[in-house]
Parts: sequence; C-alpha cells; structure tokens
Amino acid sequence: MDSQLYFPEAVFGQDNQHSTQSRVFTSPGKYIQGPGVLGKVGRYLSILKVSQVGILASNRGHRDQVPVMTGGLMAHDITWFNATFGGECSIEEINAHALALSEQNIQLLMVLGGGKCVDAGKCIAHRLGIPVVIIPTLASNDAPCSALSVIYSPVGVAVGVEFFPSNPVMVIVDTEVVVSASERYLVAGMGDAMATWYEAKVCSANPDATNTLGTRPTLAACAMGEICAHTLYADSLDAIASVRAGETAEPLERVVEANTLLSGLGFESGGLAAAHGVAQGLTQLPVVEENYLHGEMVGLGLLAQLALLNDDAEARKATEYCARVGLPVQLQQLSLDRNDPASINLLVDATMTFGPLANLPFTVTGTLMREAILKADALGTRILENLGDTAYRSLHRSS
Ligand SMILES: [Zn+2]
Repeated sequence: MDSQLYFPEAVFGQDNQHSTQSRVFTSPGKYIQGPGVLGKVGRYLSILKVSQVGILASNRGHRDQVPVMTGGLMAHDITWFNATFGGECSIEEINAHALALSEQNIQLLMVLGGGKCVDAGKCIAHRLGIPVVIIPTLASNDAPCSALSVIYSPVGVAVGVEFFPSNPVMVIVDTEVVVSASERYLVAGMGDAMATWYEAKVCSANPDATNTLGTRPTLAACAMGEICAHTLYADSLDAIASVRAGETAEPLERVVEANTLLSGLGFESGGLAAAHGVAQGLTQLPVVEENYLHGEMVGLGLLAQLALLNDDAEARKATEYCARVGLPVQLQQLSLDRNDPASINLLVDATMTFGPLANLPFTVTGTLMREAILKADALGTRILENLGDTAYRSLHRSS
C-alpha cells in the first residue's frame, strides 16, 4: 500500500535555474454529465479495461444509486466489491478502507457520494495505487475533479490537504440524481463556484502568486473561472427553479457544470486566495462546522475577500447574488455574532494559517482580515434590509 505523501510543488514548482515559473494545468481524464448517465457507467468503464472494481458509497448511496449502475457493470463483465463510507474524511476512516480494500484485488475505485466521501475515496485510491472514478451525487462543492482532498479530524475540523499525482480518471455526474437532492446543496455549490473566478483573478494578476500545484495559472484555468462566474450570475435562479420542480433543464445543466467542472478545474489550476481561507477558518468554529456546508462558508469567504481587496462594486454584486440565491451574507446567517470577540478572534487566527493568502497583492495581516470580515458582514446586513432574507430562510427552515 502506498501511503507516501505527494507534493506537486516539488515536481512542478520553481527551480533555481529559471527565474520564470512554469504554468501547469491539470484535469480529470473525462468529464461526463447529463440526465441518466448513472445507468451508462458500465459502458464508460468498459474503455478502462477493468474486471474488478471497488464501490465506495454511503449506506444511502448503496441503496439508492449503486443498483442503477450495477446492471451495466455486469453487462461488461465487471465485478465489484462494496465499501460503506461512514461519513467523515478522516485519516482513520481512509486507512481502514484502504486496508480492507487492499485484500480485494480491485483495479479501480468508484466513489459515489457527496464532498467528503469523494475526498476520502481519492485518498483511498491513492493508497491502493489505483485510478479513481468519481460519481458525485450533489453539485455542492468543487471536490470531484481535483487531485487533492481536504482531510478532517474525526469530529469534522479541517486539518490538512493531501495531494495526488493524478486527477480522477473519470467524473460522472447524473443530473437526475443532482435534482433529486435538496436545493440547499446546489446553492452551496454556487457559493463554492462563484469564488473560483475571484480567487483565480487574484492569482492571475499577481506575478508572484501560484496555484495549488505551486505553479503559475494557465489562461485556460482563468477562462474557466470567468465563464463559471458568468454562468452562475445568469442561470442560478432558473437552476434553483429546476431543482424545486425536480426536473433537469438547460440552465440546471449549465450550473451543475459550473459547480463541478469549471469550479473544480478553476480552483485547482487557477489558484486560491482569501475566500477559501475564511472557509477553512470557519470550520474551526463548531457551530459553523456542524450546521453549514463548505460552499456556504466559501460564499461568505468570497464576500470577505472582496472587502479585503476594497472592490466595492464587485462586493455589492456578489453580495446581492448570494442573498438572492440564499447563501449566507452575514455572520449571523452562519450562527455567529460579530460582537462576540472569542469566535471572531478564533475565525481570524484560523484563517491566517491558510497558505494561499500569500497570493494576495499585499501582506494580509490579522487586523486587515478582521476588518474585511466585519465590513463584509455590515454590507451583507445592509443588502438584506433591501432584498430580504426569504431565499436564505427557505433553505434553513429547520436550523
Ligand atoms: Zn471549495
């Protein structure tokens, strides 16, 4: 079993011989999205020439979605071994699955589920030294396409990142599955995806900034981030209507692609900045970590980043967008109080440990970060006074 840690920067990052950084772009082998594609997984896998695979999914995934795939696997003479994901992308869970699956002689791991299951599956496949096929059941995050995983403690606090030499060999998104999930997941994915362009833009504009591979971003990655934001501004409300109706439609397809493919490629190869830093900081606060989704935290992180950059016009545009789709635009909508110094201090300190803050065009201090978070909170509160919080409340009725 391969438990060696891999760091892309050691391979692709700057050497001492050249003053100019290389630009590197990375992506999954194939991205397949559409209504009903789950039933065609056997056909897609037939080109990979595998005969024995593992399937990692939650109990619910094994009950609801895995049976839709297995007829196709049988038709292509592929046998499978089921593994049940327990819910946390922790080293403990990853190593336990890797050990159990190492005895099954599988040639590929299929991972079906939400963000944490996807991230855990990538870590398990890396330890087994086999390719991974990702089948997200939600369009709530940017995890499926990338060659990295966020690792959490057994109680759900983000503790680090693992990188892999290869991206998933295939990412397969069945939009009929995505529309059957709660609207809140699609909206969270919009928060994660909307940040992509703004973070990639910071990295693109700063010649010293690097992407997650430790290299300069390509034009391709920036272009993907930009079309991601344009798509979300144009199509999000129609996509939400699609989920409410339980039907796939063209705007929904575009938003799912933005949330999954464009956001995934855009963040990994385009680079991160402050939005994901604040999101990482928010996971350190149990009340946020237990009750909110990654994309909801990134959404508020984006507003803090725009405040940090003093980009008032984009801050207003993004805040209005977030309020309209139902993403949190103030601390209170993440169950936090701007007048509680203990939680704000913890948030700021945890955010400041995020390496990609170095991609910003100036030195980010704790004081600047605190001011930015509070400024974003104040703007969000003002905008809610005008637009109301109906969209947010409809997604958070029970919390
Ligand atoms: Zn993200």
